[in-house]
Amino acid sequence: MFSEGLSYDDVLLLPGYSEILPKDCDIHTALCAGIILNLPVISAAMDTVTEEKLARAIALEGGAGVIHRNLPPEEQARQVANVKRYLNWIIDSPVTVPENAYVKDVRELVIKNGISGLPVVDKDGKLKGIITNRDLRFCRDDSLPVTKVMVEDLVIVTGEPTVEKAREKFAEYRIEKLPVVDNEGRLTGLITVTDMEKNENFPNAAVDKSGRLIVGAAISPQDYTVRLPLLKKAKVDFVVVDTAHGDSKNVIDAIRQIKKDYKIPVIGGNVASKEGTRRLIDAGADAIKAGIGPGSICTTRIIAGIGVPQFTAILDCAEEASKSNIPVIADGGIKFSGDITKAIGAGANLVMIGNLFAGLKESPGNEIIFDGRIYKEYRGMGSIGAIADGAGDRYQMSKDEEPVPEGIEGRVPYKGELRAYVNQLASGLRKGMGYCGCRNITELKQYRKFVKISASGLRESHPHDVQITQEAPNYSRL
Ligand code: IMP
Repeated sequence: MFSEGLSYDDVLLLPGYSEILPKDCDIHTALCAGIILNLPVISAAMDTVTEEKLARAIALEGGAGVIHRNLPPEEQARQVANVKRYLNWIIDSPVTVPENAYVKDVRELVIKNGISGLPVVDKDGKLKGIITNRDLRFCRDDSLPVTKVMVEDLVIVTGEPTVEKAREKFAEYRIEKLPVVDNEGRLTGLITVTDMEKNENFPNAAVDKSGRLIVGAAISPQDYTVRLPLLKKAKVDFVVVDTAHGDSKNVIDAIRQIKKDYKIPVIGGNVASKEGTRRLIDAGADAIKAGIGPGSICTTRIIAGIGVPQFTAILDCAEEASKSNIPVIADGGIKFSGDITKAIGAGANLVMIGNLFAGLKESPGNEIIFDGRIYKEYRGMGSIGAIADGAGDRYQMSKDEEPVPEGIEGRVPYKGELRAYVNQLASGLRKGMGYCGCRNITELKQYRKFVKISASGLRESHPHDVQITQEAPNYSRL
């Protein structure tokens, strides 16, 4: 029994009548129910791709990172917590000073928490004043009560302030901290000028309802009982059951148990069939990750002889998942921004990227100079090196077995900072949407007009019969 399998390179979206300019296309998407991203891209849970720096950078641009699990559980959770802490809208439980404290106590709190201003509260939590580094700098006597040094005449906001309201207060009073209080004057939060600035510099950031960056973490059926309590405490937004064969009993059982015990959004995968998609959805998965073997560092199809070309895998998984209104994430094989347009055109809500991000400044790998050019290390999580560092269970291998890798180790060209690069990806997607007249991701998912191309069509699609003399920021063939 044969069926036809197509990959990104086998198809193109048919251009169609358009009334929309690329810059006006809306690319926000649902990662799963309750989590909205402003860029339909998440970064792969790989040890040469996503740690806290890259997770922070991609979330600031509207996507999200999935912190890999070749890290001890405590370290993975610490990185998640750092991403969550980076951007605040309102700090909902700020560090405070009791009104009977002394200047010396405040100095200790400032050093311990690395913060520059502390609200002073009475025993009922009512706001009495604020003490900042500026007040401490000119205070020579550490034995003074805090009430003698703090500023009492405060600018505050009451209730649930909007960003506009807060911005007005900062501009009008030139303050650095804006306490939020309830109707009884009890402190409920704190807004800082630094956080306001960060919010303004990153208007597309993907944030939770408290204004903190969205971040995910990888777990496995073997380690979730250890990792999940720590990750939940660190306020992780979602977890990814990170396995090469999602259509397996242990993955399905793990998803069911996680949904029951931890009540957290769970992405299940990887699968490449309607049946596998259905089984993960029935187990409770909130989104499905599609892709068996398309990854740039992956040798699974060659070693094991199994897999489904990625375009067909997405079509099948998305058709099944759409019956339950569950998003599909197209994982692996994205080589150019046009592949993102194709993946969403095939029915995915978003894509997961490894290779294209491994060369960014924010990825964890070291820079390597080779032949006069800068590269960064990129390796499969099923490669010899990654298995030795603990990732073998993704491929049903234990540490003491002779490794049979399903991935390779290599290097990719250095690409500079994430922000500029991701802008190229997003603009490429928007251009595709403009050519098809699709205003948003939902319209692109429903567009469904593809043309299958031949090998000569693909040759014609790439630059041909010319030597490239100037590298483009969105086109490289290594
Ligand atoms: P890329 O963006 O084409 O490089 O694909 C990245 C994806 O490849 C990841 O998100 C994983 O799903 C998958 N992957 C990571 N490591 C391996 C491996 O060693 N073998 C097979 N697939 C892998």
